[in-house]
Amino acid sequence: MNYSNTDNTAFQYADIRFADIQLLRYRVPEFENLTLTQKLYVYHLSEAALCGRDILWDQNCRHNIDVRHLLEDILLHSGIEHQGAQWQAFLTYIRQVWFANGIHHHYSTDKFTPKFSAQWLEEAYKAIPSPIMDESRVMELIHIITDPTIMPKRVCQNAEDLLLASACNYYAEGIRQVLAEDFYAKKKASAIDANRPVMYGMNSRLELDEEGNLRENTYSTQGLYASHLNRICSHLEKAQEYAENQKQRDIINLLLQFYRTGSLETFDQYTIAWVGETEGNIDFINGFTEVYGDPLGLKASWEGYVNILDKQATRRTEVLSQNAQWFEDNSPVDSRFKKKECKGVTARVVQAAMLGGDLYPSSAIGINLPNSNWVRSVHGSKSVTIGNLTEAYDQAAQGNGFRQEFIRDKETLKMVNKYAHQLDDLHTDLHECLGHGSGQLLPGVDADALGVHGSTIEETRADLFALYYIADQKMYQLGLTPTPDAWHSNYYTYMLNGLMTQLVRIQPGCQIEEAHMRNRALIAHWCLEQSTHWANIFGTIPAMQLVKREDKTELLIHDYPTLRQFIGQLLAEIQRIKSEGDTLAAKHLVEKYGVDIDATLHTEILERYQKLDLAPYKGFINPCYSLQKDPQGNVVDVLISYDESFDSQMLRYGQEYA
Ligand code: ZN
Repeated sequence: MNYSNTDNTAFQYADIRFADIQLLRYRVPEFENLTLTQKLYVYHLSEAALCGRDILWDQNCRHNIDVRHLLEDILLHSGIEHQGAQWQAFLTYIRQVWFANGIHHHYSTDKFTPKFSAQWLEEAYKAIPSPIMDESRVMELIHIITDPTIMPKRVCQNAEDLLLASACNYYAEGIRQVLAEDFYAKKKASAIDANRPVMYGMNSRLELDEEGNLRENTYSTQGLYASHLNRICSHLEKAQEYAENQKQRDIINLLLQFYRTGSLETFDQYTIAWVGETEGNIDFINGFTEVYGDPLGLKASWEGYVNILDKQATRRTEVLSQNAQWFEDNSPVDSRFKKKECKGVTARVVQAAMLGGDLYPSSAIGINLPNSNWVRSVHGSKSVTIGNLTEAYDQAAQGNGFRQEFIRDKETLKMVNKYAHQLDDLHTDLHECLGHGSGQLLPGVDADALGVHGSTIEETRADLFALYYIADQKMYQLGLTPTPDAWHSNYYTYMLNGLMTQLVRIQPGCQIEEAHMRNRALIAHWCLEQSTHWANIFGTIPAMQLVKREDKTELLIHDYPTLRQFIGQLLAEIQRIKSEGDTLAAKHLVEKYGVDIDATLHTEILERYQKLDLAPYKGFINPCYSLQKDPQGNVVDVLISYDESFDSQMLRYGQEYA
């Protein structure tokens, strides 16, 4: 990526570091190129993106907001000594909670284990002159914070009853999984138009009424989270005045209607309108979007996000989307599972202007929406790669020693340093623009047929599509890769991640649980097994192998073209599983290749990684926007600044958006 008018070296990308977290800053150079009206559009959309913060906090766990109030009250007002090991442990803990939007880790979803004692926390509370919370509630919270057996996991994927075992707040306490599943199965069966089902349950909390019957408490300006949604609506109304075109105004109208009524039919209309708007430079997401936080994959967490088009980089993804049909037609997938007509694939590289809700501080770097299957197949989807975030990652990663440690071969290291960033961006584009949008279900196959393995299989499919095509000579012909072999760098980093380096994110003794990590492990381990298998049969060197040299496990790739053939075979099989809804095959592949970890290798990787002293998780500090007014009070400009610290941003958000 090239920001010709800015000096990257002067910008401080890396910021505070604690526990397993590193905070980064991202720049928004395109903001300076906007007109005042466009800047005001960004400004009000950004306010709307920040106002839903506490919706997410409450969705993640019903105690989260109270815990934050207690912690912030102690931080700002407690007379307890502001030094020593307990205080330092407290600072780490409050930052972890801020970062995770609650008391559970944002990625593993395990509850944090604070390194201060329950007794110290109680003393810290009692040293607040006039505390905002009463003592009995605080005692309860201290118990929740410090007892590891209470609510140990936000999203539990392996238990007899996933709902009872999960601390997330999408289902009232005590609602059993079978009852919830039955409730939504009936809803689905009663759909008016079975070909166009709304996303049942997506915007509500499932509760019990006085008679003990299940009922949905819907998120709306009249229902659950009314005060937050009302504030969001008022910012959206202001934003509407500065929209770039009529379509954007219509989109906001539909979103306002959805927030006011909670109608899922309106939500579908809103997403259809949103998919159709591709002319403006500014776009946003505001609403209940991803379902990773619900063990049943139905209920969506709130997120907000504003972006500005990066015109130069977007040319790259335009080339991909213009050729979407070629990619679909030439994929190794059975023709029954291919889309006859690939439509609506738009692909943009954008710069994040504001991150909120479930996209903050930890953020995705590529987004493909909407999630409704029928809307996607009839109206298409919109994909973005967030270029200024990948830029920040790359800048912060340079020279931190990670690649030198895990890529032992000098030639490979040279290749990766030269091409990895460019090819990784292209991989993300392929995954988001073409991968998720490719293929079709056979008639009558339920989009949710793969159940708990659905997300993993879907991510696997999109990654395989990307891996298959990044190696295609078409990429070079289209001018998207610098050399015919540059894709080797992407295969190497991908396999290295799936087999080894992503394990640094997992605690010793644990399994792989998160969908994207399972997907990478699945692909890499399956290819490794194929490599060994065929090498044994033919008596040749494996295409790919793990070897141990000087006590360090090392990935060697000897034959990239063969590896690509494996990728093509697996893509065909994964697409078949998805298209046919083959639940058993999905379960078999995920459980055989995507879950288990070799304990010896895991220990080695963790030890090597520890020595580098790097943070496995990264997130972002938002820029600040402020209105500049003339003496008459007219807004003459919107200023952007990047100097707020993580702590002060968190405290400010706690004040302004609570
Ligand atoms: Zn994806």
